[in-house]
Amino acid sequence: MPKIAVLKETRPNERRVAMVPAVADKLGKLGAEIHIQSGAGDAVKLPDSVFKSAKFTASATELVATADIVVAVQPPNLDVVRAMRDGAILITFVYAHKEIELVKLLRDKKITCFAMELVPRITRAQAMDALSSQAALAGYYAVLLGATQLARMVPMMTTAVGSIRPQKALVMGLGVAGLQALATARRLGAMTEGYDVRPETKEQAESLGAKFVDTGVDARGAGGYARELTQDEKSKIAAVITKHIQSADMIVTTAAIPGRPSPQLISKAQVDGMKACSVIIDLAAEGVGNCEYTQPGDTVQIGQVTIVGPLNVPSMLGEHASELYAKNQYNLIELFLKDKVINLDWSDEVIAKTALTHAGEIKNEAARKAIET
Ligand code: NAD
Repeated sequence: MPKIAVLKETRPNERRVAMVPAVADKLGKLGAEIHIQSGAGDAVKLPDSVFKSAKFTASATELVATADIVVAVQPPNLDVVRAMRDGAILITFVYAHKEIELVKLLRDKKITCFAMELVPRITRAQAMDALSSQAALAGYYAVLLGATQLARMVPMMTTAVGSIRPQKALVMGLGVAGLQALATARRLGAMTEGYDVRPETKEQAESLGAKFVDTGVDARGAGGYARELTQDEKSKIAAVITKHIQSADMIVTTAAIPGRPSPQLISKAQVDGMKACSVIIDLAAEGVGNCEYTQPGDTVQIGQVTIVGPLNVPSMLGEHASELYAKNQYNLIELFLKDKVINLDWSDEVIAKTALTHAGEIKNEAARKAIET
């Protein structure tokens, strides 16, 4: 019977866990035996006792030594990977360019590593797409973080002493996180505006009741993502967007370009002209941030403006983030685990593109170039 090992996360501020009871039960039905590192779900209030059919081991290295599949949220420590069986499967977020030693070890131990950030963004793989599930949670939570930083309420309110006007929320970058932020701000009663450099996001923003800030710039890049802007385009955008930035009460920024540092959307000068007591939540803080003043992992006060640069936002909603992540992983595992047998079909685009390492090779081209040349 294939054995699946679930690691307890060890990275700072990581509350998520790669398994929830409902997914453990479903994996049991596929013929897997679930072994969990003791206390793996404690941070999201999933004590060992709620995993009825699982077995528990205190030591991570002992746990993985006999496992066929190891699952985690963040890349495991090198000593844990060293303790894995040669040729076993590891499924986790990796981000290979930040984990050079780990990727070399995975290659040398002939581990088949499926990196969750490599799941292709195709319709068939949507249920396995942890980037999207986690980004949706982050977009929602960014607005709540913003609302609690405002010394104002968000919706309109009529009281005996007069009416309070609704706040204006501007969301910059309308991918998965940004659209969720727009929807959340609207539900809280804000007047919402959205902006992106991909024109197709206009209709998506409007369908969520938001106004779209049209800058006239089309920066569609490959694969549905944005490309970097030219200096001319940046100036054209600044001419339109500055007044929207400076009339907003809350701004959520989420802009990213794959493989590049996060683009700067808000300059120091634009912040300096913002309304008193307004707030920016910079979801790109994990990179360098979308605002020139952002301090990743910190909240800073610049004049009367508060700028929040939160890290690992999905982990702040650890319970639901773990549930969605575990379901994403289940849908991936279901592709190759059937009737107690693991069978990797390399002609399947999802298997082939999600594999970072396999049989002693780095399969992902970008990672191979970064690490081997
Ligand atoms: P992302 O995290 O890469 O970027 C967030 C947003 O920032 C994007 O909308 C991007 O256009 C925007 N952006 C980049 N530079 C900008 C700038 N200078 N100014 C303003 N905005 C800027 O995005 P994501 O959430 O990962 O989604 C990227 C694409 O993938 C979208 O087209 C999305 O619909 C698509 N997608 C497809 C699937 C699927 O088909 N399975 C799943 C998820 C996402």
